[in-house]
Amino acid sequence: MEQFQGELIDRVFDRGICVKCGACVGLCPYFRYFDGIVAVMDRCVAGTGRCVQVCPRAGYKSTAPQENATDGNGIGIYRSVFKARASVDTLHEGVQYGGVVTALLAYGIENSFFGGAIVTDREGALAPSGMLAESVTDIARCAGSRYSAAGSLAVFNKAIKDGKGNLAVVGLPCQMEALERMKHSIPDGAQRESAVSLRIGIFCTWALDYRMLKDFLRANGVTGAVKKYDIPPPPSEKFVVFTEQGRREFPLMEIRGLVQKGCSLCRDMTAEHADISIGTVEGEEQWNTVVLRTEKGEAFFEEALNKNIVEKAQLPDQNLNHLSTASRNKRKRGKNAELELSREG
Ligand SMILES: Cc1cc2nc3c(=O)[nH]c(=O)nc-3n(C[C@H](O)[C@H](O)[C@H](O)COP(=O)(O)OP(=O)(O)OC[C@H]3O[C@@H](n4cnc5c(N)ncnc54)[C@H](O)[C@@H]3O)c2cc1C
Ligand code: SF4
Ligand code: SF4
Repeated sequence: MEQFQGELIDRVFDRGICVKCGACVGLCPYFRYFDGIVAVMDRCVAGTGRCVQVCPRAGYKSTAPQENATDGNGIGIYRSVFKARASVDTLHEGVQYGGVVTALLAYGIENSFFGGAIVTDREGALAPSGMLAESVTDIARCAGSRYSAAGSLAVFNKAIKDGKGNLAVVGLPCQMEALERMKHSIPDGAQRESAVSLRIGIFCTWALDYRMLKDFLRANGVTGAVKKYDIPPPPSEKFVVFTEQGRREFPLMEIRGLVQKGCSLCRDMTAEHADISIGTVEGEEQWNTVVLRTEKGEAFFEEALNKNIVEKAQLPDQNLNHLSTASRNKRKRGKNAELELSREG
Protein backbone atom coordinates (compact mmCIF):
# COMPACT_ATOMS: atom_id res chain seq x y z
CA MET A 1 0.00 0.00 0.00
CA GLU A 2 1.34 3.40 -0.95
CA GLN A 3 1.93 5.93 1.82
CA PHE A 4 2.75 9.58 1.38
CA GLN A 5 4.60 12.35 3.19
CA GLY A 6 1.31 14.31 3.22
CA GLU A 7 -0.06 11.83 5.77
CA LEU A 8 2.78 12.62 8.15
CA ILE A 9 2.21 16.34 7.70
CA ASP A 10 -1.54 15.99 8.36
CA ARG A 11 -1.33 13.54 11.23
CA VAL A 12 1.79 14.79 13.01
CA PHE A 13 3.16 18.20 12.01
CA ASP A 14 -0.20 19.97 11.56
CA ARG A 15 -1.37 18.63 14.92
CA GLY A 16 1.85 19.78 16.61
CA ILE A 17 2.60 16.31 17.99
CA CYS A 18 6.07 15.66 16.52
CA VAL A 19 8.27 14.54 19.42
CA LYS A 20 11.56 15.17 17.58
CA CYS A 21 12.81 11.62 17.67
CA GLY A 22 14.62 12.28 14.38
CA ALA A 23 13.56 9.01 12.71
CA CYS A 24 12.17 10.71 9.59
CA VAL A 25 15.19 13.00 9.21
CA GLY A 26 17.74 11.88 6.66
CA LEU A 27 15.54 9.17 5.15
CA CYS A 28 15.04 11.68 2.34
CA PRO A 29 16.15 15.29 1.77
CA TYR A 30 12.79 16.75 2.87
CA PHE A 31 13.15 16.78 6.66
CA ARG A 32 15.78 18.56 8.76
CA TYR A 33 16.56 18.72 12.48
CA PHE A 34 17.93 22.09 13.51
CA ASP A 35 18.32 23.61 16.95
CA GLY A 36 15.55 21.65 18.63
CA ILE A 37 12.99 21.47 15.83
CA VAL A 38 12.20 19.11 12.97
CA ALA A 39 11.21 21.03 9.86
CA VAL A 40 9.62 19.97 6.59
CA MET A 41 11.86 21.49 3.91
CA ASP A 42 9.78 20.60 0.89
CA ARG A 43 6.84 18.53 -0.29
CA CYS A 44 7.43 15.02 -1.57
CA VAL A 45 5.06 13.00 -3.74
CA ALA A 46 6.81 9.61 -3.63
CA GLY A 47 4.49 6.81 -2.54
CA THR A 48 7.07 4.97 -0.41
CA GLY A 49 6.28 7.08 2.67
CA ARG A 50 9.10 5.72 4.82
CA CYS A 51 8.67 8.80 7.01
CA VAL A 52 5.07 7.80 7.92
CA GLN A 53 6.08 4.20 8.44
CA VAL A 54 8.77 5.01 11.02
CA CYS A 55 7.07 7.83 12.93
CA PRO A 56 6.04 6.87 16.49
CA ARG A 57 3.37 9.62 16.47
CA ALA A 58 1.74 8.74 13.12
CA GLY A 59 -0.93 6.66 14.85
CA TYR A 60 -0.75 3.96 17.46
CA LYS A 61 0.23 0.53 16.23
CA SER A 62 -0.35 -2.45 18.45
CA THR A 63 3.01 -4.03 17.58
CA ALA A 64 4.24 -3.12 21.04
CA PRO A 65 5.14 -5.91 23.45
CA GLN A 66 3.05 -4.14 26.07
CA GLU A 67 -0.04 -5.50 24.32
CA ASN A 68 1.11 -9.00 25.12
CA ALA A 69 -0.96 -10.84 27.69
CA THR A 70 2.15 -12.14 29.49
CA ASP A 71 3.15 -8.62 30.42
CA GLY A 72 2.26 -9.01 34.08
CA ASN A 73 3.57 -5.94 35.78
CA GLY A 74 3.18 -3.23 33.20
CA ILE A 75 6.79 -2.63 32.12
CA GLY A 76 6.75 -4.78 28.99
CA ILE A 77 8.39 -8.13 28.34
CA TYR A 78 11.63 -8.70 30.18
CA ARG A 79 14.00 -11.39 31.45
CA SER A 80 15.13 -9.69 34.65
CA VAL A 81 14.97 -6.39 36.48
CA PHE A 82 17.38 -5.20 39.18
CA LYS A 83 19.43 -2.17 40.16
CA ALA A 84 22.99 -1.59 38.97
CA ARG A 85 25.69 1.03 38.91
CA ALA A 86 29.03 1.60 37.21
CA SER A 87 31.98 0.21 39.18
CA VAL A 88 34.31 2.69 40.87
CA ASP A 89 36.84 2.34 38.00
CA THR A 90 34.27 2.81 35.24
CA LEU A 91 32.25 5.68 36.71
CA HIS A 92 32.64 8.61 34.31
CA GLU A 93 32.35 12.25 35.28
CA GLY A 94 29.06 13.92 34.38
CA VAL A 95 26.88 10.79 34.38
CA GLN A 96 23.28 11.32 35.37
CA TYR A 97 22.79 8.64 38.03
CA GLY A 98 24.58 5.29 38.36
CA GLY A 99 26.42 5.81 35.08
CA VAL A 100 25.43 2.39 33.72
CA VAL A 101 24.61 3.66 30.21
CA THR A 102 28.00 5.33 29.80
CA ALA A 103 29.93 2.44 31.39
CA LEU A 104 28.24 -0.11 29.09
CA LEU A 105 28.84 1.99 25.99
CA ALA A 106 32.48 2.60 26.85
CA TYR A 107 33.00 -1.12 27.46
CA GLY A 108 31.24 -2.02 24.20
CA ILE A 109 33.33 0.37 22.12
CA GLU A 110 36.63 -0.54 23.77
CA ASN A 111 36.02 -4.24 23.23
CA SER A 112 34.58 -3.93 19.70
CA PHE A 113 31.09 -5.21 20.58
CA PHE A 114 30.04 -2.32 18.40
CA GLY A 115 31.94 0.12 16.21
CA GLY A 116 30.02 3.22 17.23
CA ALA A 117 27.12 4.44 19.34
CA ILE A 118 24.35 6.90 18.54
CA VAL A 119 24.13 9.15 21.59
CA THR A 120 22.93 12.68 22.37
CA ASP A 121 25.44 15.46 22.80
CA ARG A 122 25.43 18.31 25.30
CA GLU A 123 23.89 21.53 24.17
CA GLY A 124 26.24 24.34 23.19
CA ALA A 125 25.23 27.38 21.18
CA LEU A 126 22.54 25.12 19.67
CA ALA A 127 20.16 22.51 21.07
CA PRO A 128 21.40 19.01 21.94
CA SER A 129 21.44 16.68 18.97
CA GLY A 130 22.56 13.22 17.97
CA MET A 131 26.18 12.21 17.72
CA LEU A 132 27.93 9.14 16.36
CA ALA A 133 30.42 8.35 19.14
CA GLU A 134 33.31 6.20 18.00
CA SER A 135 35.60 6.46 21.03
CA VAL A 136 35.34 6.34 24.82
CA THR A 137 36.14 10.06 24.88
CA ASP A 138 33.10 10.78 22.68
CA ILE A 139 30.90 8.54 24.85
CA ALA A 140 32.04 10.22 28.08
CA ARG A 141 31.49 13.68 26.59
CA CYS A 142 27.81 12.83 26.05
CA ALA A 143 27.11 11.49 29.57
CA GLY A 144 24.18 12.98 31.49
CA SER A 145 20.53 13.70 30.59
CA ARG A 146 19.23 16.55 28.49
CA TYR A 147 15.52 16.70 29.32
CA SER A 148 14.55 17.91 25.88
CA ALA A 149 14.07 15.85 22.72
CA ALA A 150 17.13 16.00 20.50
CA GLY A 151 16.34 14.35 17.15
CA SER A 152 19.22 11.94 17.59
CA LEU A 153 17.91 9.26 15.21
CA ALA A 154 18.75 11.66 12.37
CA VAL A 155 22.36 10.74 13.05
CA PHE A 156 21.49 7.05 12.91
CA ASN A 157 20.04 7.57 9.41
CA LYS A 158 23.12 9.52 8.36
CA ALA A 159 25.44 6.81 9.70
CA ILE A 160 23.63 4.22 7.59
CA LYS A 161 23.88 6.45 4.54
CA ASP A 162 27.62 6.72 5.21
CA GLY A 163 27.89 2.93 5.20
CA LYS A 164 28.32 2.49 8.96
CA GLY A 165 27.02 -0.60 10.70
CA ASN A 166 27.47 -2.46 13.99
CA LEU A 167 25.97 0.40 15.99
CA ALA A 168 24.63 0.71 19.51
CA VAL A 169 21.71 3.14 19.72
CA VAL A 170 20.81 4.96 22.94
CA GLY A 171 17.41 6.59 22.94
CA LEU A 172 14.13 7.44 24.57
CA PRO A 173 11.18 5.02 24.38
CA CYS A 174 9.75 6.83 21.32
CA GLN A 175 13.12 6.41 19.60
CA MET A 176 13.18 2.70 20.41
CA GLU A 177 9.65 2.48 18.98
CA ALA A 178 10.79 4.29 15.82
CA LEU A 179 13.64 1.75 15.45
CA GLU A 180 11.10 -1.05 15.82
CA ARG A 181 8.90 0.50 13.14
CA MET A 182 11.96 1.04 10.92
CA LYS A 183 12.71 -2.67 11.19
CA HIS A 184 9.36 -3.46 9.54
CA SER A 185 9.42 -0.58 7.06
CA ILE A 186 9.49 -0.93 3.31
CA PRO A 187 11.72 -1.00 1.29
CA ASP A 188 14.92 -1.03 3.38
CA GLY A 189 13.88 -1.90 6.96
CA ALA A 190 15.92 -5.08 7.04
CA GLN A 191 19.08 -3.20 6.06
CA ARG A 192 18.51 -0.62 8.80
CA GLU A 193 17.81 -3.31 11.37
CA SER A 194 21.01 -5.15 10.46
CA ALA A 195 23.04 -2.04 11.32
CA VAL A 196 21.86 -2.11 14.95
CA SER A 197 23.91 -4.23 17.35
CA LEU A 198 22.36 -3.10 20.63
CA ARG A 199 19.43 -0.89 21.63
CA ILE A 200 19.77 0.84 25.00
CA GLY A 201 16.52 2.58 25.94
CA ILE A 202 16.27 5.14 28.72
CA PHE A 203 13.11 5.59 30.80
CA CYS A 204 11.05 8.67 30.05
CA THR A 205 7.93 10.30 31.49
CA TRP A 206 8.09 13.34 29.20
CA ALA A 207 10.55 15.55 27.34
CA LEU A 208 10.59 19.30 27.05
CA ASP A 209 10.40 21.42 23.93
CA TYR A 210 13.97 22.76 23.72
CA ARG A 211 13.07 26.20 22.37
CA MET A 212 10.40 26.73 25.01
CA LEU A 213 12.87 25.63 27.69
CA LYS A 214 15.50 28.03 26.37
CA ASP A 215 13.01 30.94 26.43
CA PHE A 216 11.88 29.99 29.93
CA LEU A 217 15.48 29.87 31.24
CA ARG A 218 16.38 33.15 29.53
CA ALA A 219 13.30 34.85 31.03
CA ASN A 220 14.48 33.61 34.42
CA GLY A 221 18.01 34.95 34.00
CA VAL A 222 19.75 31.68 33.00
CA THR A 223 21.71 32.59 29.88
CA GLY A 224 25.02 30.70 30.08
CA ALA A 225 25.76 27.15 28.97
CA VAL A 226 23.93 24.52 31.03
CA LYS A 227 26.27 21.94 32.58
CA LYS A 228 23.63 19.61 33.95
CA TYR A 229 19.87 19.23 34.41
CA ASP A 230 18.25 17.17 37.13
CA ILE A 231 14.78 16.18 38.28
CA PRO A 232 15.24 14.89 41.84
CA PRO A 233 12.76 12.17 42.87
CA PRO A 234 9.39 12.98 44.48
CA PRO A 235 8.38 14.68 46.68
CA SER A 236 10.89 17.36 45.59
CA GLU A 237 8.82 18.57 42.58
CA LYS A 238 11.84 20.52 41.32
CA PHE A 239 13.69 21.01 38.05
CA VAL A 240 17.33 21.82 38.73
CA VAL A 241 19.74 23.54 36.33
CA PHE A 242 23.49 23.75 36.91
CA THR A 243 25.44 26.44 35.05
CA GLU A 244 28.84 28.15 35.44
CA GLN A 245 27.00 30.64 37.69
CA GLY A 246 25.74 27.93 40.03
CA ARG A 247 22.56 25.99 40.76
CA ARG A 248 19.04 27.17 40.00
CA GLU A 249 15.82 25.43 41.01
CA PHE A 250 12.39 25.81 39.42
CA PRO A 251 9.05 24.31 40.52
CA LEU A 252 8.28 21.31 38.32
CA MET A 253 4.76 22.76 37.89
CA GLU A 254 6.20 25.63 35.85
CA ILE A 255 8.29 23.28 33.73
CA ARG A 256 5.38 20.96 32.89
CA GLY A 257 3.99 23.67 30.61
CA LEU A 258 7.07 23.22 28.42
CA VAL A 259 6.48 19.49 27.76
CA GLN A 260 6.06 18.57 24.08
CA LYS A 261 2.40 18.16 23.13
CA GLY A 262 3.11 14.80 21.44
CA CYS A 263 4.39 13.31 24.72
CA SER A 264 0.81 13.23 26.01
CA LEU A 265 0.11 10.41 23.50
CA CYS A 266 3.06 8.31 24.58
CA ARG A 267 2.31 4.92 26.16
CA ASP A 268 5.82 3.73 26.91
CA MET A 269 7.75 4.75 29.99
CA THR A 270 10.41 2.04 30.12
CA ALA A 271 11.54 1.68 26.48
CA GLU A 272 9.82 -1.64 25.88
CA HIS A 273 11.47 -2.14 22.48
CA ALA A 274 15.03 -1.92 23.76
CA ASP A 275 17.44 -4.78 24.45
CA ILE A 276 18.31 -3.11 27.76
CA SER A 277 16.23 -0.39 29.42
CA ILE A 278 17.75 1.90 32.05
CA GLY A 279 16.30 4.50 34.41
CA THR A 280 16.83 5.88 37.87
CA VAL A 281 16.10 4.26 41.25
CA GLU A 282 13.95 6.68 43.17
CA GLY A 283 15.64 7.65 46.42
CA GLU A 284 18.96 5.96 45.48
CA GLU A 285 20.42 8.18 42.82
CA GLN A 286 23.79 6.46 42.65
CA TRP A 287 21.97 3.49 41.16
CA ASN A 288 20.06 2.72 37.98
CA THR A 289 17.07 0.48 37.46
CA VAL A 290 18.04 -1.98 34.71
CA VAL A 291 15.59 -4.09 32.69
CA LEU A 292 17.13 -6.83 30.54
CA ARG A 293 14.65 -7.67 27.80
CA THR A 294 16.34 -9.74 25.11
CA GLU A 295 18.88 -12.54 24.89
CA LYS A 296 21.31 -10.14 23.22
CA GLY A 297 20.90 -7.52 25.94
CA GLU A 298 21.28 -10.10 28.67
CA ALA A 299 24.45 -11.61 27.18
CA PHE A 300 26.07 -8.19 26.79
CA PHE A 301 25.16 -7.07 30.33
CA GLU A 302 26.32 -10.35 31.90
CA GLU A 303 29.68 -10.00 30.17
CA ALA A 304 30.09 -6.44 31.48
CA LEU A 305 29.13 -7.70 34.94
CA ASN A 306 31.68 -10.51 34.82
CA LYS A 307 34.37 -7.99 33.84
CA ASN A 308 33.40 -5.76 36.81
CA ILE A 309 32.34 -2.90 34.55
CA VAL A 310 29.07 -2.69 36.47
CA GLU A 311 27.76 -4.10 39.73
CA LYS A 312 24.21 -5.20 40.43
CA ALA A 313 21.88 -5.71 43.41
CA GLN A 314 18.24 -6.51 44.02
CA LEU A 315 15.75 -3.77 43.21
CA PRO A 316 13.53 -3.25 46.28
CA ASP A 317 9.92 -4.46 45.66
CA GLN A 318 8.66 -1.03 46.56
CA ASN A 319 10.62 0.51 43.64
CA LEU A 320 9.42 -2.11 41.17
CA ASN A 321 5.82 -1.63 42.28
CA HIS A 322 6.12 2.09 41.88
CA LEU A 323 7.64 1.72 38.41
CA SER A 324 4.84 -0.65 37.40
CA THR A 325 2.19 1.80 38.54
CA ALA A 326 3.85 4.75 36.81
CA SER A 327 4.25 2.74 33.63
CA ARG A 328 0.63 1.55 33.61
CA ASN A 329 -0.60 5.07 34.30
CA LYS A 330 1.41 6.37 31.36
CA ARG A 331 -0.19 3.80 29.07
CA LYS A 332 -3.65 4.81 30.23
CA ARG A 333 -2.94 8.52 29.80
CA GLY A 334 -1.54 7.91 26.30
CA LYS A 335 -4.52 5.81 25.28
CA ASN A 336 -6.99 8.43 26.53
CA ALA A 337 -5.09 11.25 24.82
CA GLU A 338 -5.15 9.29 21.54
CA LEU A 339 -8.92 8.80 21.85
CA GLU A 340 -9.39 12.49 22.50
CA LEU A 341 -7.25 13.40 19.49
CA SER A 342 -9.20 11.06 17.22
CA ARG A 343 -12.46 12.71 18.38
CA GLU A 344 -11.01 16.09 17.40
CA GLY A 345 -10.58 14.60 13.90
C1 LIG B 1 13.99 13.32 28.39
C2 LIG B 1 14.34 12.33 29.47
C3 LIG B 1 13.38 11.94 30.38
C4 LIG B 1 13.68 10.98 31.37
N1 LIG B 1 12.72 10.61 32.27
C5 LIG B 1 12.99 9.65 33.18
C6 LIG B 1 11.99 9.20 34.09
O1 LIG B 1 10.86 9.68 34.08
N2 LIG B 1 12.31 8.21 34.98
C7 LIG B 1 13.57 7.66 35.02
O2 LIG B 1 13.81 6.76 35.82
N3 LIG B 1 14.53 8.07 34.17
C8 LIG B 1 14.28 9.05 33.27
N4 LIG B 1 15.25 9.45 32.39
C9 LIG B 1 16.52 8.71 32.37
C10 LIG B 1 17.57 9.22 33.32
O3 LIG B 1 17.64 10.63 33.29
C11 LIG B 1 18.96 8.64 32.93
O4 LIG B 1 19.22 8.89 31.57
C12 LIG B 1 19.01 7.14 33.11
O5 LIG B 1 18.66 6.80 34.42
C13 LIG B 1 20.43 6.62 32.82
O6 LIG B 1 21.27 7.08 33.82
P1 LIG B 1 22.84 6.91 33.70
O7 LIG B 1 23.52 7.49 34.89
O8 LIG B 1 23.16 5.49 33.33
O9 LIG B 1 23.12 7.84 32.42
P2 LIG B 1 24.48 8.30 31.73
O10 LIG B 1 25.54 7.27 31.92
O11 LIG B 1 24.76 9.70 32.15
O12 LIG B 1 24.06 8.26 30.20
C14 LIG B 1 22.96 8.99 29.72
C15 LIG B 1 22.82 8.72 28.24
O13 LIG B 1 21.60 9.34 27.83
C16 LIG B 1 21.78 9.96 26.57
N5 LIG B 1 20.87 11.12 26.50
C17 LIG B 1 20.97 12.27 27.18
N6 LIG B 1 19.96 13.09 26.86
C18 LIG B 1 19.21 12.45 25.94
C19 LIG B 1 18.04 12.79 25.22
N7 LIG B 1 17.43 13.96 25.38
N8 LIG B 1 17.55 11.90 24.32
C20 LIG B 1 18.15 10.69 24.14
N9 LIG B 1 19.28 10.31 24.81
C21 LIG B 1 19.79 11.17 25.70
C22 LIG B 1 23.24 10.38 26.54
O14 LIG B 1 23.71 10.39 25.22
C23 LIG B 1 23.92 9.30 27.39
O15 LIG B 1 24.44 8.29 26.57
C24 LIG B 1 14.99 10.43 31.43
C25 LIG B 1 15.96 10.86 30.51
C26 LIG B 1 15.66 11.80 29.54
C27 LIG B 1 16.73 12.23 28.57
S1 SF4 C 1 8.01 12.18 15.75
FE1 SF4 C 1 9.95 11.58 14.84
S2 SF4 C 1 9.45 10.54 12.93
FE2 SF4 C 1 7.60 11.62 13.61
S3 SF4 C 1 7.67 13.57 12.52
FE3 SF4 C 1 8.66 13.92 14.48
S4 SF4 C 1 10.85 13.52 14.14
FE4 SF4 C 1 9.74 12.69 12.40
S1 SF4 D 1 7.27 10.91 26.64
FE1 SF4 D 1 7.35 9.42 24.98
S2 SF4 D 1 7.23 10.66 23.14
FE2 SF4 D 1 7.80 12.04 24.77
S3 SF4 D 1 10.03 12.08 24.69
FE3 SF4 D 1 9.43 10.54 26.20
S4 SF4 D 1 9.41 8.62 25.05
FE4 SF4 D 1 9.39 10.28 23.56
